[in-house]
Amino acid sequence: MKFNIAVIKGDGIGGEIIDQALKVLNAIGERFGHTFSVASVLMGGCAVDEVGTPLPKETVDICLKSDSVLLGAVGGPKWDVLPSELRPETGLLGLRSAMGLYANIRPAALFAPMRSACPLREDIAEKGLDMVIVRELTGGIYFGKRGRHVSKDGIEAFDTECYSEKEIKRIAKVAFETAMLRKRKLTSVDKANVLESSRLWRDVVHKTAEDYPDIEVCDMLVDNAAMQLIREPSQFDVILASNMFGDILSDEAAMITGSIGLLASASLGDSKCGMFEPIHGSAPDIAGQDIANPVAAILSAAMMLRYSFGLYAEADTIESAVDATLRAGVRTRDIRDANTSKLVGTTEMGDMIRAIAYEI
Ligand code: NAD
Repeated sequence: MKFNIAVIKGDGIGGEIIDQALKVLNAIGERFGHTFSVASVLMGGCAVDEVGTPLPKETVDICLKSDSVLLGAVGGPKWDVLPSELRPETGLLGLRSAMGLYANIRPAALFAPMRSACPLREDIAEKGLDMVIVRELTGGIYFGKRGRHVSKDGIEAFDTECYSEKEIKRIAKVAFETAMLRKRKLTSVDKANVLESSRLWRDVVHKTAEDYPDIEVCDMLVDNAAMQLIREPSQFDVILASNMFGDILSDEAAMITGSIGLLASASLGDSKCGMFEPIHGSAPDIAGQDIANPVAAILSAAMMLRYSFGLYAEADTIESAVDATLRAGVRTRDIRDANTSKLVGTTEMGDMIRAIAYEI
């Protein structure tokens, strides 16, 4: 099969890590008989430097015509002083909105060979953790009405959490579909004991659950969820959360897996064309030194194969290759530990994962 991928390397370490992901994709293409055709486009600080805008129209057009988008990262101190319409992050938000991406999917798994990097107690880490957080991305308090006014007590500021049935239903469906591909267990997080928007959230999730009788569903208040993630993370399979709750819980989940350089994410909408990217940023402090960890970018490519192209065996192959590489004690500097048998740079890590992806 042939797939067209729009590739945005972006800024900082973006180019270095995406090159490794493309290397591994090509190996998968050769092994399984697929062609991944790549169109490189500009976004972020590099686009500001070259064409004066963080999100050129050509980039949006090519992304919309592609089967999927693979992104490195954007941003850096060089562009922090620019007005907001020229900031690299504005380009990213603009592209997400142009592509209608309302669902953010973040797997948080603790690779067995990385257990010592988990900051939780040994007996908890030993049980392992392997969950996916499905976060609503375009609604809720981050997009609701906000403002300030003067009251008798001085300035008052407000933000509004507002969700429609339609918004909740579509993100719930993504979470249920995700759970169908996994252990069929879904935890819906809300604050229904206090918030009316959460009570609607709960109603709509329960109604959606009627279409998925094979899935075990439970509701969990967000404060309890924050605690349970630390107490017993192995209980979770798929977590469904609103924009703000998902934002906070996904960072907590990322932290307990040990390293930001290992975690991938997907942003999806109604079409199969999604955007796949590492959860980390452009890491300007280590850019250009061949020391960045390319695993998150490589796992983002695996997510693209699974979620956009439906290539499950191919995605599994990449994930197994990463696991085998880590099991062999191969580490980049950020995940160096007592089990390290070989310390490698970005390129060599990509080469090793590619070589194993051919074999397993
Ligand atoms: P960051 O994630 O870039 O870096 C945080 C720390 O983690 C740094 O010490 C960095 O060296 C390290 N790190 C990150 N990725 C790594 C990797 N693959 N291998 C090894 N170490 C890694 O976060 P930051 O420093 O807060 O942000 C830097 C820039 O990235 C900012 O301009 C920010 O706006 C941008 N950013 C972009 C995205 C995105 O493009 N989606 C996301 C977050 C931040």
